[in-house]
Amino acid sequence: LSSKFSGIFEGMSKRGLLSEADVSEAMREVRLAMLDADVALPVVKDFISRVKEGAVGKEVLDTISPGQAVAKIVNDALVESLGGAGVVPLSFNAAPPVAILMVGLQGSGKTTSSGKIALRLTAREHKKVLLASLDTQRPAAQLQLAQLAEQAKVACLPIVSGQPPLEIAARAMDTARREGYDVVILDTAGRLSIDEALMAEVGAVKTLVNPHETLLVVDAMTGQDAVNTAQAFKAAVGLTGVVMTRMDGDAKGGAALSMRAITGTPIKLVGSGEKLTELEEFYPERVASRILGLGDIAGLVEKAAETIDEEESEKLALKMLKGKFDLEDYAAQLRQINKMGSITGIMDMLPGMGKLKEAMSGKDIDTSILDRHLVIISSMTKGERKQPDIIKASRKKRIAAGSGTSVQEVNRLLKQFNDMSAVMKRFNKLGIKGLMRQGLG
Ligand code: GDP
Ligand code: MG
Repeated sequence: LSSKFSGIFEGMSKRGLLSEADVSEAMREVRLAMLDADVALPVVKDFISRVKEGAVGKEVLDTISPGQAVAKIVNDALVESLGGAGVVPLSFNAAPPVAILMVGLQGSGKTTSSGKIALRLTAREHKKVLLASLDTQRPAAQLQLAQLAEQAKVACLPIVSGQPPLEIAARAMDTARREGYDVVILDTAGRLSIDEALMAEVGAVKTLVNPHETLLVVDAMTGQDAVNTAQAFKAAVGLTGVVMTRMDGDAKGGAALSMRAITGTPIKLVGSGEKLTELEEFYPERVASRILGLGDIAGLVEKAAETIDEEESEKLALKMLKGKFDLEDYAAQLRQINKMGSITGIMDMLPGMGKLKEAMSGKDIDTSILDRHLVIISSMTKGERKQPDIIKASRKKRIAAGSGTSVQEVNRLLKQFNDMSAVMKRFNKLGIKGLMRQGLG
């Protein structure tokens, strides 16, 4: 999706006039790209007509190009369709213990997300959290949650074998009340597909514990199926939010877009990997810019801030926002990538990294490419690193020889760097810096 979007607005901005034809042409591309990304057809149609309405006949300010104006309108409409600006937080506005009920199909990531949420609430909000597994369907399910709880250093309700889900739920709430827990997270069993027995079980638990949040966990990679699942759960038991997992995969936000537009249920959290720390807030602005191929700069900065020291990340953020970074900064980024966990996750967020990722896709991500880039950069002079433009043929040969690579590899690195710079510059011109700053705050 993103690579398609990237080209559209550039072409327009060269023409200097925003005609109805321009808008229609751009929207044709946008439509195809959205369908490609598995956005549901009615959502696409609604989106396109809304954007057209907003774009045609609108005066284009002198200070921005027509392409930028349309890009801004598309971006704003995307944000709107994804639920409007800002994050929808988990709600704890009730007397403790507050229950969070995790529901969804088998394998969607309920147990993992339960552990992730428990860790987040404990570490960031200093809540006293109790985890409890009501999954009596799969033999090792309760043990799986107990292990995650241990990893997260969060309490887990002791397993009593043979106890049915409703009794476990009652025991969890009793324990929480007696022992002064703030939050109880109830992980439930799933089925391979929606069936009445599943809904009845979830419904009974819900009636018993009266949860403050009923969170549906869905796999972003399942696209339209995730939306159908949400519709069914919403109708049968009611939902207060969605946790969308596997956003670290190829899903480019299409499922998130349909989910919000069709079910109206806010996406509250996003799973971005298998590790317990890989849970993020859902920022519509970021997903919109990711769909637009601009890269999730704010998300990257946030992730970086957690891993590297703050001063360093602030410098990085500033440089990124100004679009003023050189090969030394690029090298610094590469070094940090290893510290930050999932490389694919990071690359999705770095503007212009899409192509590098594509080049590596299909195989296991080859971290040696990043290492080689580092070696190549270390074979450059300081001047070359600060001003990559001066690296012409003879310098390339010297750098290739010095780093034990080839001129082709040096070229590839420079191309990657230039792509990244170009996207960052464009990103700044779009004037959605303010939006990103909000995300940073
Ligand atoms: P459940 O059946 O709904 O409880 O699903 P699990 O929590 O057991 O998760 C099923 C698999 O998905 C496990 O291997 C998890 O590690 C994996 N998983 C869960 N969330 C994510 C995510 O956000 N990203 C990735 N890549 N894997 C995930
Ligand atoms: Mg489970």
